[in-house]
Amino acid sequence: MVITSRFADVTVPDVDLWSLYMETPRAYPDNHPILIDGDTSISYTRAQIKEYSIALGQGLKHTFSWSKGDVLAFYTPNDIDTAIVNLGLHWAGGIGSPANPTYTVDELARQMQDSGAKAIITQTPFLETVLAAARQVGLPKDRVLLLGRQTQQGFRHWRDINADGAWMKPRRTRVNPETDLAYLVYSSGTTGLPKGVALTHRNIVANSSQGAVLDLKGLSWDFDAHLGVLPFFHIYGLSVVLNVTLITGAPCVVMPKWDLEKACALIQKHRLTFLYVPPPIVLALGKQPVVDKYDLSTLRWINSGAAPCGRELVVAVWERLKVGVKQGYGLSETSPTITTQFADEWFRFQGSVGKLLPGMKAKIVDEAGKEVPQGESGELLVKGDNVFSGYWNRPDLQEGTFDEDGWFKTGDVFKVDDKGNFYITDRIKELIKYKGFQVAPAELEEKLHGHPKVGDVCVIGVFNEEEHTEVPRAYIVPKPGVAPSDELAEEIASWLAGRVAPPKKLRGGVRFLDEIPKSQSGKILRRVVAQMVKKEDGAV
Ligand code: AMP
Repeated sequence: MVITSRFADVTVPDVDLWSLYMETPRAYPDNHPILIDGDTSISYTRAQIKEYSIALGQGLKHTFSWSKGDVLAFYTPNDIDTAIVNLGLHWAGGIGSPANPTYTVDELARQMQDSGAKAIITQTPFLETVLAAARQVGLPKDRVLLLGRQTQQGFRHWRDINADGAWMKPRRTRVNPETDLAYLVYSSGTTGLPKGVALTHRNIVANSSQGAVLDLKGLSWDFDAHLGVLPFFHIYGLSVVLNVTLITGAPCVVMPKWDLEKACALIQKHRLTFLYVPPPIVLALGKQPVVDKYDLSTLRWINSGAAPCGRELVVAVWERLKVGVKQGYGLSETSPTITTQFADEWFRFQGSVGKLLPGMKAKIVDEAGKEVPQGESGELLVKGDNVFSGYWNRPDLQEGTFDEDGWFKTGDVFKVDDKGNFYITDRIKELIKYKGFQVAPAELEEKLHGHPKVGDVCVIGVFNEEEHTEVPRAYIVPKPGVAPSDELAEEIASWLAGRVAPPKKLRGGVRFLDEIPKSQSGKILRRVVAQMVKKEDGAV
């Protein structure tokens, strides 16, 4: 049975993102500050964002001959400039490709190479890494640009990129929302190394319109406000958090880095009314003593997404703050939201990630791709305007990503009740989620194979109750003649820690095996390893 959304279809406007955000009339005044820097209280209004993004777009075309489809990489923590730079880039027909600013030089260079970035934008504290990555991929130094408060001699800040000296100002680049890309975000998908998720303007505009009848409904520009702490380099921050502000005018108070006490102080100071966060932040709000020092009574709802959020967390937050935590679910590949709960729905269906967004269709299938009876678990397959059409330059992956009828295979296991509430019960893809950040086992295995004492390796995620998150753990077969020991485990974990971004550290530890379970074709049987872990941990 194909499951359809219980909401009436929405009309997705046939526009690109710049037009959606800057040209569509909105209920909030143009001079209302909508992006606020949490540290300095410097802010931007919609009128300023429009003016600055046009100037930047013109500058990109004038200075760098920016053409349709040219990619700008981002390597920066959250900043109020991010939206302006993305919009200026879209005005000029470009594609934004954000990278996690904790990436190592190699990790960043890999994404820059794969996306074919024409330039990269960063902040001064990150220049060393960016310059090293730029050298690796042969990007000239004058293509390294800056955003944020600080400038540095020898580097162009986005504010200095304009067409002031041009004899004629460049005109806007028109894109086809249906086929032209807005973002290339990176995800490991169901298997293997991270790859570019090619998201068109239409995909993002669709998810914005679908959300308009759910989360965005009931928000007002002069009453509501929220925290911009989810990374703008991840689709959840880029498409959900920025979108809600640009559409409704509810100001976003931007935080570059998570800090519980600072976040509480900002909620109190700016009288924030709602939050988009991952489960570890829900945990902190529910359990950390420092929260009691602040008045958080303006909060109306919290949305948890990006990773599983347990019932005990939701209850802890309710008991302490009398605020409901609702859940949403989605992926980079679906721009991102697939299901969400209503703000007042959290207590009725604890554990559910909500209902299908308008215009979406879903199927729940068994291993053979056959639909399972209603109420039973299986892999979730979806269709909708927000679903991407493939990975960047990877036509070879189409077959495994979509079934023969074009349904996108999420790699997540779900069941649905008779009221249309979806419950995520398992994940069949390899992906590990550390506090909402993606960790691709294949990437860590590839690196660990480079350690001189590692014969074979399998990385899987194990759940850490205390932090309420999965953490990566390596199962290692030492090379012949190398004896397993606690010291060796320690040595391997710290060797890897020096070569990867912090979320990818082996926080789940290193364990030794005589052999990695593999199929006849040599594929790691991760399920078998995961089963072993459950036994080890006494869970079965
Ligand atoms: P990403 O592409 O980084 O957004 O990762 C998408 C994956 O995160 C999904 O396929 C799920 O496995 C997981 N995920 C997202 N939202 C939730 C949620 N609410 N509960 C459990 N897992 C989630």
